[in-house]
Amino acid sequence: MSWEVVIGLEVHVQINTKTKAFCGCSTTFGAEPNTQTCPVCLGMPGQLPVLNMEAVNKTVLTGLAIGARINLESRFDRKNYFYPDLPKGYQISQFAVPLVEHGHLDIPTQDGEKRIGITRIHMEEDAGKSLHEGLDGVSHIDLNRSGIPLMEIVSEPDMRSADEAVAYLKKLHQLVRFLDVSDADMEKGQFRCDANVSVRRPGEPFGTRTELKNLNSFRFIKQAIEYEAMRQIELIEDGGEVVQETRLYDSAKGETRSMRGKEEAHDYRYFPEPDLPPLRITQQQVDAIRDGMPELPAQMRARFEQEYGLSAYDADVLSQTRELAAWYEALVAAHPADPKRCANWLANELLGRLKELGCEISASPISPQQMAGLLDRIADGTISGKIAKDVLDEMIQSGKDADAIIEAKGLKQLNDADAIDALIRQVLDANPQQLEQYRAGKVKLFGFFVGQVMKASRGQANPAMVNARLKALLDD
Ligand code: ADP
Ligand code: MG
Ligand code: ZN
Repeated sequence: MSWEVVIGLEVHVQINTKTKAFCGCSTTFGAEPNTQTCPVCLGMPGQLPVLNMEAVNKTVLTGLAIGARINLESRFDRKNYFYPDLPKGYQISQFAVPLVEHGHLDIPTQDGEKRIGITRIHMEEDAGKSLHEGLDGVSHIDLNRSGIPLMEIVSEPDMRSADEAVAYLKKLHQLVRFLDVSDADMEKGQFRCDANVSVRRPGEPFGTRTELKNLNSFRFIKQAIEYEAMRQIELIEDGGEVVQETRLYDSAKGETRSMRGKEEAHDYRYFPEPDLPPLRITQQQVDAIRDGMPELPAQMRARFEQEYGLSAYDADVLSQTRELAAWYEALVAAHPADPKRCANWLANELLGRLKELGCEISASPISPQQMAGLLDRIADGTISGKIAKDVLDEMIQSGKDADAIIEAKGLKQLNDADAIDALIRQVLDANPQQLEQYRAGKVKLFGFFVGQVMKASRGQANPAMVNARLKALLDD
């Protein structure tokens, strides 16, 4: 009997404002512990929070981009719990009335696009960080992160496999970066995901879910969901029952284990935050934010297909990030004759090499203009595509322009018909046996001759001319 996995995701996204949610402290990552704090984010009694409107605007923008309703009046609540990294004893969050509700995100699946509902986006503040490592049995607390604004983006339980969950997260990750509402660096904890997982037989009501924490990469998310779904299925098939609980994913062991059960579940005793008035925004504010919305990934993909004649696949690859898309468009601006050639060389050649170097496009050792210089030399026949790949390697290593490398290494393509004829004759003279077989009807030896001529020219003969001249001379 088959099983269906049901997944709903809660994603915490750090909003990339300069200052914190309720005070003027800096949000810059990586500072000395506790240097970016003040009485408000240290949780001193009697300090009043002042809401950062930039964080509100960025949450509204995100809401608009997922087609959600923006609540013109929303509320802040206190979520009460004790933890050493939370000196106030409560987190300011939005519980009863969030800023954003009822949105959606479309994800690619094997059966085409699928719409995933987004229940809500609420604003809240981050907690500090406990530091244990290398501290010899004691823990330290760093409150630089305390009070950094977060969006919690809660999905409907609409996903049916770990792959769908990962596709959703990748789309969401791409979207918040396109909107520039978050840097969403997962290694810095700026995009964190909890996964709610249950299993059922198709058609039955939802099963009991567990919540998985500590999922800090797309790979771990997939592994954790797959492990957890199997665990629940085996448990039920063995006559057991899934208990609602929070489970921690151990990436070293590749398994989830119980962190706290329902009995120990937090009762947060939410109540309205008395120090903040209801958050009121106007429709005009919302409209102004909508007017300033940048091009979204799906729009950009469609434009790349239309404007540059790219395949759906290439358009998708090149619109993965705004940085990459901007790089591509700068390349096309510098080599406007052939946007497809630009796409091929960027997506297949440059990105592949950068990946090997572990380097993002923003840190590429060569500029779009330099890349265009290389493509110009292919276009005007100075070098072949094959030689161009070697030149590109050299450009990446040295940062030099294509022309300088072609000149210094004498790589110019041989386009002189007489010289190519001479090479062909040389090859035919050196291989009388093959020539005889060819003339006797073994026509596939043609490729052998092409290869020999290219070799004799050290790869520099124009391949199209070699083909044409060889045909002419052989059929003489
Ligand atoms: P809580 O208040 O305990 O966080 P919510 O109702 O807000 O619970 O749901 C949290 C997340 O759990 C949402 O993303 C939701 O889609 C998901 N979810 C709810 N029920 C299930 C279920 N049976 N299986 C999988 N995910 C679920
Ligand atoms: Mg929740
Ligand atoms: Zn502060």
